[in-house]
Amino acid sequence: MTLSGWVQKSRVLGGMTFVDLRDRYGLTQLAFNMETNAELCAAANQLGREYVIQVTGNVTERSSKNNQIPTGEIEIIVTALTVLSESETPPFLIESETDGNEELRLKYRYLDIRRPKLRDILITRAHIIRAVRSYLDGKDFIEVETPNLIKSTPEGARDFLVPSRLQHGSFYALPQSPQILKQLLMVAGMDRYYQVVKCFRDEDFRGDRQPEFTQIDCEMSFIHQEDIFETFGGMVQHVFKKILNYDLGELPRIKYDDAIRLYGSDKPDLRFDCPIVELNNHLPTSDFVVFNNALANGGLVAGLNAKGSANYTRKQLDELTEFVKVSHRGLGGLVNIRFNEDGTVKSSADKFYTEEQLRQIGAAFGAEKGDLILIAADKHSKVRKSLGDLRLELAKRNNWIDNSKWSVLWVVDFPLFEQDEESGDITFAHHPFCSPHPEDMIYFENDPLKVRAQTYDMVMNGNEILSGSIRIHQRDIQEKVFNNLGLTPEDRDKKFGFMLNAFRYGAPPHGGCAFGLDRMVMLMTGGETIRDVIAFPKTSGGRDLMMDAPTPVDGNQLKDLGIAIRE
Ligand code: ASP
Repeated sequence: MTLSGWVQKSRVLGGMTFVDLRDRYGLTQLAFNMETNAELCAAANQLGREYVIQVTGNVTERSSKNNQIPTGEIEIIVTALTVLSESETPPFLIESETDGNEELRLKYRYLDIRRPKLRDILITRAHIIRAVRSYLDGKDFIEVETPNLIKSTPEGARDFLVPSRLQHGSFYALPQSPQILKQLLMVAGMDRYYQVVKCFRDEDFRGDRQPEFTQIDCEMSFIHQEDIFETFGGMVQHVFKKILNYDLGELPRIKYDDAIRLYGSDKPDLRFDCPIVELNNHLPTSDFVVFNNALANGGLVAGLNAKGSANYTRKQLDELTEFVKVSHRGLGGLVNIRFNEDGTVKSSADKFYTEEQLRQIGAAFGAEKGDLILIAADKHSKVRKSLGDLRLELAKRNNWIDNSKWSVLWVVDFPLFEQDEESGDITFAHHPFCSPHPEDMIYFENDPLKVRAQTYDMVMNGNEILSGSIRIHQRDIQEKVFNNLGLTPEDRDKKFGFMLNAFRYGAPPHGGCAFGLDRMVMLMTGGETIRDVIAFPKTSGGRDLMMDAPTPVDGNQLKDLGIAIRE
């Protein structure tokens, strides 16, 4: 047979030279024999790491087998060798476990992708996309491409702008998503649309984000929310079965309000339980000002039962307190109650509660011997957010998560509007085209924050991997939403006039969603960041280290565009 590939490593053993040849499909051992073919063996001894070679030879059974790799039982006794291309010594080890740090690997990404780990992720990514396409094609969805040079879209992030050479001072925006275009495809009668599509958001690089990322963007006409749950729940079930041979089963649903109340998050990880328990109606009377003040100010007293953690040391308890005190959580501290194994009950609020009262509080948590109760008191949002984070932290510390399990669920009934904590302004929670629940329209004028939207997310192991909604297709409701968002008629015409115009010509009821493909692939391949599943990602600071971008451009290019850079 003839094989081509890269030299991973070679070793000389007695009169034999063995070379591991790597290609996209794996490793194959090549054998050269000094006794039977000295010239060829000498040539093999000259091969360096990452040389590209082609060999012809005979496949034979190995005497010492390697059961770690699929080709471990055979080797190729080489009869002809051609060096197709030489290589300099690579800057890091091209193996699954490498000595190269991420910066170096991003700079030489083409070498990084030769590593089996990355290669396999990219292959799985392609298989996932193939499974998605075959599922959606089977359901009569049509893949339609939408343009990248468009007008600003409404996902609420900052746009990437592209200056127009032909109209100085005017700019295209790169799509934050094809949201408006897919809705116009519904007006156009396309009925079932999808697209594997790049989206662009110029956000601050907090957390695990990329300025450009891929969505599986979908939209359907003449449907209700249930059709979306069935179609796209079915899609993840299909993909999991095909790729991981895992049966997800029916996806549970949880209401947004319940998710926030019970898990302090709109993307709860339900691979473990540990819900937040609210104590406002369960607190015994006492002089404890921390709790009393929170209640007097309309706040919340609530806590978690860290099962089996009563033996946490002072230091561990302090760490948890610090965890909830950091500025973005901002709690004053945590009160603990320890239900010790020996049957005693101890608390950091011993001074204010009798043992009987502590046991009464513990009963609200179903506390048993060995349990540690952690309680917070403050504004509702702060307590919920902090306990939601603490819940995840406890799961990590106590190994509560079974990594062979998946938790994939729908979160439904999101609010239509949100209030900006600082300015008090009302903004949309998802985007301005989400349809309110008809029965909540009674709150629309006077209590808009109470209006629920027909908006849903899919959550996978505590990560949001899909968002979507039933859209507004009636002009009058769309105008009401714009009014509530404080958009003047001029604003709305300037931003969305083309869309509102289209809706004059017969808009079908429609709805859809978009999957974050990168995050879904990351979770399904066990990656730690979405950079691991993107062939050529940017750093967390938004740089492409391989191409060295962004960079200043030539003065003439700027002149063409009518742009001057201000020092
Ligand atoms: N365009 C939305 C997003 O990118 C998804 C949707 O509503 O379909 O989040």
